[in-house]
Amino acid sequence: MPLKYLLPEEQIPRHWYNIIPDLPSPPAPVLHPGTLQPVKPEDLSPLFPMPLIEQEMSAQREIPIPEEVRSALALWRPSPLFRAVALERKLGTRSHIYYKYEGVSPAGSHKPNTAVAQAFYNAKAGVRRLATETGAGQWGSSLAFAGQLFGLAVTVYMVKVSYEQKPYRRSLMRTWGAEVFASPTDKTNAGRAIRGQHPDSQGSLGIAISEAVEDAASREDTKYALGSVLNHVCLHQTVVGQEAQAQMKLAGEYPDVVIGCHGGGSNFAGIAFPFARDKMHGKQVRLVAAEPTSCPTLTRGIYAYDFGDTVKMTPVMKMHTLGHDFMPPGIHAGGLRYHGASPLVSQLVAAGLVEAVAYPQRACFEAAVLFASTEGILPAPESSHAIKAAIEEARRADAEGHERVILFNLSGHGHFDLGAYDQYLAGQLEDFEYPHEAIEASMKKLPDVG
Ligand SMILES: *Cc1c(COP(=O)(O)O)cnc(C)c1O
Repeated sequence: MPLKYLLPEEQIPRHWYNIIPDLPSPPAPVLHPGTLQPVKPEDLSPLFPMPLIEQEMSAQREIPIPEEVRSALALWRPSPLFRAVALERKLGTRSHIYYKYEGVSPAGSHKPNTAVAQAFYNAKAGVRRLATETGAGQWGSSLAFAGQLFGLAVTVYMVKVSYEQKPYRRSLMRTWGAEVFASPTDKTNAGRAIRGQHPDSQGSLGIAISEAVEDAASREDTKYALGSVLNHVCLHQTVVGQEAQAQMKLAGEYPDVVIGCHGGGSNFAGIAFPFARDKMHGKQVRLVAAEPTSCPTLTRGIYAYDFGDTVKMTPVMKMHTLGHDFMPPGIHAGGLRYHGASPLVSQLVAAGLVEAVAYPQRACFEAAVLFASTEGILPAPESSHAIKAAIEEARRADAEGHERVILFNLSGHGHFDLGAYDQYLAGQLEDFEYPHEAIEASMKKLPDVG
C-alpha cells in the first residue's frame, strides 16, 4: 500500500513563518538602483502594495494568513505528503524517502501559494491590474488564476523561447483571462532597447522582469508581482514546510535532510525554512538546495550585490548571482534559469546553514523517469533536481551503511513539459556546464557598492 499522509482542511496553517528574526545576523539592506542607498518603503510603492512591502521587511516571526487567502488555499491545501515506498524498493535503499506534492494546485506547482496572497493584497489596496514576467509559464499561469479569484487583470511578459516552446502554458494563462506577450516586446523601452541591440533575442527572465517592472511603474492602476526570490514570496511558501512538519509527525519521523530544487529559491524556502527554524534552535537537520549545472547560481555564483533584472531597474540585493546580463542556455528546466537567488536563501548558504548541489539535466530526467515509473507522478523538470538529490542522499547513506530519513519538495508536475520528456527519451538532450569565463565576465558588471 502506498503511504499517504493527509491533514484535515482546518490544518491549513494560520500563520506564515518569517525567518528574518531567527537569522544569525540581520539581512543585508536592499539598495535603490539609482542611488545605491538603502531603499525606503515608499521607494517600492510604485511596484507593490504596502502590506507586501511591510512583509518584505517585517521582523514579526509569525504573520497571520488572512481568511480570504486561507479560503483560496483550501482549493488545494493541505497538499499530500507521501512516503515513496515504491521508489525506495526500486533503489533497494534502507533510507526512508518522503515527498511533499505541490503539483495538486490548479496551476500544477507551488507558485499559486504566493499568487493568491499577492492578488489578495493588491485587490484590497484597490489595484486593478498586475504586470509580471514568466519563464516556463508556471508563474504566469499561477498569477492569471489568482487574478481571476480576486478580480484583477493580469498581463504576462513571457520569455520568447518559452512562449514558442510551451504553447499550452499560454493557453492556460489566456483561459484564466490573462494577456500574454512574447518578451522582449516592442511595448516597453526595455524591450525595444534589447530588440535594438539583439534583433534575434530569445529573451531571458532578466529582460522580462525589466518589461513588467516598467509596465507597472508607468501605470497608476497597475502593480508588479514576482513569483520567487523576494522575502514575501518565500514567506508565503512556508505553508508547505509547516504542513510537512505536521505530516512527518503523523508518519512518526523527523527528516535528517530536507531538499528542494532551486531556481529563485521560493519552493526551497517553503519546505526548508520551518525546518531551518528548528535547526537554528539546535535540531540536527541538513537543508539541501539542488540546482542545474547550466545555471549554477548557488554553487558557482558570487555572493554579492546585484540587480534583479537585465536593464537595472529593480532594487539591488545581496544574493548569489551569475550576473544580471546572464544569458541562459536553453535547458528545459525553464523555472531554474534565473541569474540571481533569494537573498534569504543566499544568506543561509553563506552562513553554512544550507548546502547547495548542482546536477546536469540528463541525470535529472533519468531520476524523473525512475520516479514516474515507481511513484506514478510525472515530475516537472525543475522538481527532478530535488528527486535526483534525494536519490543521491539515499545511495550515499547506503554506501555509508546507515539509513536516512529524506524529505523533498516535489514542486510541480510536468504535464506541460512533455516536449522535454520526448527529447530526453529520444536522446536529444545535452548536458551543459555554464562556462567559468562567462561568470568572470559578468562579475565585472556588478554594481559598485562600496
Ligand atoms: C518556478 C518553479 C521552480 C523554481 O522556482 P523557485 O522559486 O526556486 O521555487 C521549481 N519548480 C517548479 C515546478 C516551478 O514551477
